[in-house]
Amino acid sequence: MPGFELFGPEERKEIDDVLETGILMRYGFDGPRKNIWKSKELEAAICSRLGCSFAQLTSSGTTAVSTALASLGIGAGDEVIMPVFTFVASFESVLGVGAIPVLVDVDDTLTLDPDAVRRAITPRTKCVMPVHMCGAMADLDPLLQICKEHDLLLLEDACQSTGASYKGRHLGTIGHAGTLSFDFVKTITCAEGGAVLTNDETLAIKCDAYTDHGHDHKGTDRGADLHPYIGYNFRISELHAAVGLAQIRKLDRFLAIQQKNHSQLKAILSTIPGISFRRLPDPEGDSYTFLSWFLPTEEATRAVIAELKQQNILAGNFYWYDNNWHYFRKWDHLRQGSTLNNLNEEQKKALRILKPDGFPASDKIMSRCVSTAIGLLWTEEQTKEKGEKIVAAAKKTLTREKSPVA
Ligand SMILES: *Cc1c(COP(=O)(O)O)cnc(C)c1O
Repeated sequence: MPGFELFGPEERKEIDDVLETGILMRYGFDGPRKNIWKSKELEAAICSRLGCSFAQLTSSGTTAVSTALASLGIGAGDEVIMPVFTFVASFESVLGVGAIPVLVDVDDTLTLDPDAVRRAITPRTKCVMPVHMCGAMADLDPLLQICKEHDLLLLEDACQSTGASYKGRHLGTIGHAGTLSFDFVKTITCAEGGAVLTNDETLAIKCDAYTDHGHDHKGTDRGADLHPYIGYNFRISELHAAVGLAQIRKLDRFLAIQQKNHSQLKAILSTIPGISFRRLPDPEGDSYTFLSWFLPTEEATRAVIAELKQQNILAGNFYWYDNNWHYFRKWDHLRQGSTLNNLNEEQKKALRILKPDGFPASDKIMSRCVSTAIGLLWTEEQTKEKGEKIVAAAKKTLTREKSPVA
């Protein structure tokens, strides 16, 4: 899955170009930088590879989501509908811009359940934020329809799904805006970094200013820039962009390897009695970073996880239901509103009504789900061995479950 597995001379060459001039910042220094503009080059490469008009690089995926939200005009009093299965960055960014996270169930796509989204809409809803989890797509057509009917913004968090698509268009380029993450464990990496994607020029200009203290970037003299609005420093550095530039050129190679290993593993795991797989609204569009599978009950799933752990082969198999980062059930700090500074009253009120057992429909799905991360370095033999070990562990625990209690 992560691009860092194939870090090599290509990345080093791009970094060396930057080290040659020592201009590590993406703006200014037009003379000394000797025409080396890694951030601009990476933005252009993202647009051309993913098919969107504008890409704004940021210091992280989290700041990309924050930038997108703010630039879409989402702030105090606005509700953002987001899934209970995501990375903590989703609610961090919503709270950070002063808005209210409205948590909603996921279905067997592991992404927003469109019916649950409909039920969550209030007069204060401003944005629906699907998160394309584990390398694949949310059910975008119904979500786009809902947004159209209710005049809502659609912000796609595609941080985990660079290179995946939905009906021929890349994730992150379909809504009003989309975000990518290039942190160290994502599909392609900059070490740290992210991007906001959009086809809306006005929005792109806002993102550009927001990530650099509101600078309008109209001239060549930074000191003479005007500041039409308040922004922050969410800039990426040239060193990080250099890594990303080498990585995006390898994206097709990563995707091809992932697809091969994923399909081999899926064929092997299919022999587990009762197993089923994540529903994909567009099976062609998977980026194959994970194989997500379900067993019929929570008990069966926990038993397999325990067996994998016992055999010391759990690494790379994620049981999100017990995970502190990705599933609502363990977000005690969110429910308790444990922040260092004061949230606004509306945010506090929204968090107070959240209950750990408030999402039984999602619990029913997530308690039976395991995602196996697909490696870029696996040989065919290793993939086979990994798959067969999981099958053996599953069969062992399934027979144990069926046998009469001693
Ligand atoms: C990784 C991730 C982010 C944030 O990205 P960082 O670059 O780590 O800040 C946001 N959303 C999702 C779904 C992610 O997986």
